[in-house]
This record gives sequence, C-alpha cells and structure tokens, in this order.
Amino acid sequence: MSLSPPHRLYFEIILGLLVIFTIFAIAGERQILERRLVIDSNSGMALNLYDDRENGGQSSIYLDDEKNMQWHCILRDGFAYPLCGFEVLFDKERTRGVDLRHYEKIRLRLDYQGPSQTVRISLRNFDPRYSKKEILQSTKYNQIEFNVGLLNGVAEFSLKDFFVANWWVLENKIPPQLSHPQFDNITIFEVQSGSGKPLGKHQFQLHKVEFIGQALSTADWYLAIMVVWLGIILSFLGYRIIKLKDEVVIQRKRESELLDINALLDTRSKALEIQAKTDPLTGAFNRLGLEEAISLGLQEWHKYRKPLSLVMIDIDHFKQVNDQHGHDIGDLVLSHLSTIVQQHTRSQDLFARWGGEEFVLVCRDTDIERAYAIAEKLRELIASQTLAKNIHITASFGIATLKPHGNIEQLFKAADTALYDAKSSGRNRVVIAA
Ligand code: GH3
Ligand code: MG
Ligand code: MG
Repeated sequence: MSLSPPHRLYFEIILGLLVIFTIFAIAGERQILERRLVIDSNSGMALNLYDDRENGGQSSIYLDDEKNMQWHCILRDGFAYPLCGFEVLFDKERTRGVDLRHYEKIRLRLDYQGPSQTVRISLRNFDPRYSKKEILQSTKYNQIEFNVGLLNGVAEFSLKDFFVANWWVLENKIPPQLSHPQFDNITIFEVQSGSGKPLGKHQFQLHKVEFIGQALSTADWYLAIMVVWLGIILSFLGYRIIKLKDEVVIQRKRESELLDINALLDTRSKALEIQAKTDPLTGAFNRLGLEEAISLGLQEWHKYRKPLSLVMIDIDHFKQVNDQHGHDIGDLVLSHLSTIVQQHTRSQDLFARWGGEEFVLVCRDTDIERAYAIAEKLRELIASQTLAKNIHITASFGIATLKPHGNIEQLFKAADTALYDAKSSGRNRVVIAA
C-alpha cells in the first residue's frame, strides 16, 4: 500500500506519538498504575472501641482524642485473655466493606507506648457464608502480630503476611476451605494490644494507614498497551481503505470524463475533416477530397491492377440558367444535380466538384465499359428530371480510364478532351476518350 505525502506525514506523526506514549507507559508503569487507600484524621471514618468487660474482664479503653485517633487502654486481670481494641469502620453497618484484593501492601504510622512487646493489626472481612450482622465477632480476622520495635517511623507489611486468627476459626467452626485469608469485603481495620497478657497502660495514636496496590497487573498493562497499538493501526488501516475507495471512485469518474471528452473531440475532428473535404454548396467532395480518392484508386491500380476510370461532367448552357433565373436558382440547380448524382452512384464512386458547374466522378475498380454505363445512366437521369422551379437541364460527359503506363495528368487530360468532344458534337452525350 503506497501512501500519498499528507497521509505519510499523518502516519509518521501517529507512529511517533505511539512510540512516545509506549515509552512513558512502560517507564512510568508504577506511578501510572499505583492505587492508594488512606485512613487518617481527614478520612472522617467511624470509630469504635471495645474492651474485655463484656467477656467478664476488668480492662478498660478510653478515647483521648477522636479527631487524631488517639486512645489508651488499661489491661487488668480478669478475662483469660485481657484485651482492648480500636476499630476503624469502612461501613457503619459492618457488612459492606472495601475490596482490598488488588492491594499488595499496608503502610502503617502508629505510635505505641506501653509494656506490650507486640501489637496486633486485623483486617476484618464480612462474608455471608460465615458472618452474621448481629454477631460482631463473626467477621473474619485476617491478622498480623508484630514487635512494637517495628513501629519506629513507618512499618510496611505485605497483605500476603496476614493469617487468619486460629481462635476465630475454632470459635466459629469455620471449615478449612473458608479459613484462608480473605480481603474481598473488608469492613474493619483494627488495632489491638498484643496477645501476651501484658497488664498495664497502653497508649496508641494512629496517624496514618495506607493500602498500596497496582490498578492493573504488569501483564494486563502490557496487554493494554498492545491493544492501543492494534486499535490505532487498525483504525489507520480502515481510514486508508475508505480513502483509497474514494480515490478509486474519483479516478474512475475522471477516466470516464476523459473518455467522453475524447469521444466528443473524435466526433468533432471527424466532422471537421469531412467539412474540410466537402464543397459547402453542393455537398460533393472538393478538390482535397478528390485528391484522396484518386490516390486511393492509384494505390489499388498499382497493387492489384484494379482499373481506375474518370467521368467528367459539365452542365450544358449553364450560363443561360443563371441569366434566365438568377444566380441563386443556379446554385439550387447545382445542389439538386449533386444530390441526384450522389443518390445514384455506388459507395466506391467518389463525386467531387471540380469547379463552377463542372464535376468529376472517380470510379475505382471500374473499367471503361462500366464507366460508360454509369455515365450514360446519369446523363439520362439528369436530362429526364426537372430541377429547381421546373428547370430542365442536360449535361455532357467525358470518360477515360488509366492506361498501363499512363499517369493521372494524362487521365484528366483524356477525360477533359472527351468532354470537349461531347460539347462540340452536340452536348447531352457521353464520349469515351480516344
Ligand atoms: P457550355 O454548354 O459550353 O458548358 O455552356 P456554359 O454556359 O455552361 O459554359 P460557360 O463556361 O460559358 O459558363 C459557365 C457558367 O457557370 C458561368 C458561371 O456564371 C456559372 N457558374 C459557375 N459557378 C457557378 C456557381 O457557383 N453558381 C452559379 N449559380 N453559377 C455558376
Ligand atoms: Mg464549364
Ligand atoms: Mg457548361
């Protein structure tokens, strides 16, 4: 497929843009695809605190600063596992949470002061297969427990590091196929004191939780880039096909217009050619037409030995016609005579006006006897008809045929002499050259 210059330019611009786009898409994959979910003091999410008093324990939890998510808890002996917890709710109803499956990491800024060696973080998943809205503990505990030393600055964990709390599996009689970590409907982010029965005062402040993931996998991202390439190439090809179709239609139209013009010029030039060879008054050929006919007859005579004969015709006393009826009627008589002769000669015979009231009939492939018969027939026709306004005329005929070693000049001279003889011997007759 060849491209015309403007299309080439478009093609190159599109190609260049695509290459730039691809470089950016590959180099900036992380930045472009990264997605973040943030919990901080600006999130305005619902909070909930609990302690072990509902389990018969004596621990108590206090919210010190709700806006800055600051709380403390005093763990006391009483319940077998003294605990307190701080919950950030993605959904106040605790049933419709967020899908964290496409997040890979959790980044945590959490301050802790107290006697515990560890802190627990839970991502609680609601799933109707094991969760009931009215039973708060029925949401799955995806959990990590880590050393508080990790909390200096920012702690980062992979969601793959979470496991499902064993006590939760046992307490809720969860079958093995449902006891793996699950993040498709996380309703609660939770911070708990450690599990090692650390009695005393624990102080917490949650600054920020970030879930970090990639909107598309690298494979999908490369697939998307490829789809863009394919899409643009296909649209470009489609566009080119449509354009080419249009061009073909225009080209065809142009060709047919040219053909029409050619045909018109052809007809016109033929008409002009005929006009150039025709005598305007009588419609007979003029001297130019006569020359062509004679050269054709000569060729046939030389090549195939076909006889060539000439009939010279001169109207008798034509001067009198002009004198009696006027020049215009004289013209009409010439025209009528021409018509009569043309109607009664064969297609191979060429009738031309030699000048004034004299005519020549070139008879190709015709010997002198046949020429005589033709001339005699014409003579009788002219003499028997009345032309324009009841005018009666006769004409004299001189005929000759080309001799074996003769030439055109001799032929014309011989016919002319014969015509002269016809005139002098009484007119209205046909005379064969001696
Ligand atoms: P002849 O029998 O001896 O041929 O007598 P003629 O009168 O025909 O001969 P002549 O040569 O003396 O006269 C020819 C006349 O033909 C003279 C001229 O006025 C006339 N003539 C020649 N050309 C034209 C023409 O185009 N139109 C008209 N109306 N007359 C013409
Ligand atoms: Mg004459
Ligand atoms: Mg005459």
